[in-house]
Amino acid sequence: MRQSKLFTKTRKEAPKDEVSKNAQLLIRAGYIHKEMAGVYSFLPLGVRVMDNIKNIIRDEMNVIGGQEVFMSSLQDPELWKKTDRWNDEVVDVWFKSKLKAGGDIGFAWTHEEMITRIMSEYIRSYKDLPLYTYHIQNKFRNEVRAKSGIMRTREFFMKDLYSFSRTQEEHDKFYAESAETYMRVFNRLGIGDKTYKTFASGGAFTKFSHEFQTLSEAGEDIIYINEEKGIAVNEEVLADADLSELGVTREELEKRKSIEVGNIFSLGTKFSEALGLKYVDEAGEEKPIIMGSYGIGPARAMGTVVELLSDDKGIVWPEEVAPFKIHLVEIGGGDEKVQVYADELYKKFADTGIDVLYDDRDARAGEKFADSDLLGIPTRVVISKKTLEGGADNNSGNNIERVDRKTGKVEMVSEAELFS
Ligand code: ATP
Ligand code: MG
Repeated sequence: MRQSKLFTKTRKEAPKDEVSKNAQLLIRAGYIHKEMAGVYSFLPLGVRVMDNIKNIIRDEMNVIGGQEVFMSSLQDPELWKKTDRWNDEVVDVWFKSKLKAGGDIGFAWTHEEMITRIMSEYIRSYKDLPLYTYHIQNKFRNEVRAKSGIMRTREFFMKDLYSFSRTQEEHDKFYAESAETYMRVFNRLGIGDKTYKTFASGGAFTKFSHEFQTLSEAGEDIIYINEEKGIAVNEEVLADADLSELGVTREELEKRKSIEVGNIFSLGTKFSEALGLKYVDEAGEEKPIIMGSYGIGPARAMGTVVELLSDDKGIVWPEEVAPFKIHLVEIGGGDEKVQVYADELYKKFADTGIDVLYDDRDARAGEKFADSDLLGIPTRVVISKKTLEGGADNNSGNNIERVDRKTGKVEMVSEAELFS
């Protein structure tokens, strides 16, 4: 894409009321637009990053057998009354509205009820199980506080997977597999080394659930970790009895701030019992289905990547998340030779199927470099009069400057090397 055509522009300042680093950088670089507290729109560069994140998640969910669906945001109150989760006294994050035709309607803040009802129309016998479905969709929550940029918003993306199993054993096996899959997702997002599978409180059916907590000062959660033992516990699971069960003492734990990027939860038969989701086993007996839910917030993950991996110049995207692989920057100052060669390279990248943002704007070198650092594309390729003349390396054929955004390492390379 030609940067001269990109409608977003970088800006020096973020909105005054924006306190979080992730939103400040993402707004300044033109990835997102702030609509109001806790509500953001995604702009072209932001959509590219978000799509990359969603696709990494999608990829990994498919590997463990997830079947993708897309459930509606508008929710039927009658369904939620059956699980006693329609009442505002029970669930305090609902956004609700009235239908012109009469009656109430809700905006989905999660989808257990809806997926359980759908499945009750398709699952009949043990032969239909186990089954895993997921979707990546908008959730609406009337959050009281919204000051962590795109990490806590009132309308946000969530990937939620739901598992349907015949036995506890079958459920436990998938639950363990999902935890490994989650770590693969976070590794691919570039935040794996700071992300801990963390013990958190369970529900009626299990003692613990698990959260995936990424260490960061920008986090809203407090966890206690023991790096050596690789154990992390949420502060809500700090009773001595719980700790001894986990094989760790209070003294061995260090208090840290963290961001909950995902969580996995055993639901037991809570929803299947309430909504009549049953299957007929081999002996012809009717049994309730054992369920689990598995969430990741793609936008919260995007914010976490920015919080962790940016530096004083701007964002530093990991390869798989970046909006483009290459930032081609032409600094010819009107020199035709430079422009023609940069255009040629741009075309070659496109022909090779490499995603490139081409800074073909009529702007000063300093401005282009500052913008490039702010945008955070992993590799910058610079073409100027100086590089074309080969600089000190005159006539070597190494007439392209390549800069690594993360390390700042600069090298002169030939065209052949650039495409190798
Ligand atoms: P939290 O404890 O942070 O409020 P939660 O436990 O309510 O989150 P879940 O309902 O389990 O979260 O949602 C699954 C995932 O969705 C979370 O792990 C998080 O990544 C993301 N998420 C939850 N709430 C928000 C939000 N308000 N804005 C952005 N992402 C969110
Ligand atoms: Mg939570």
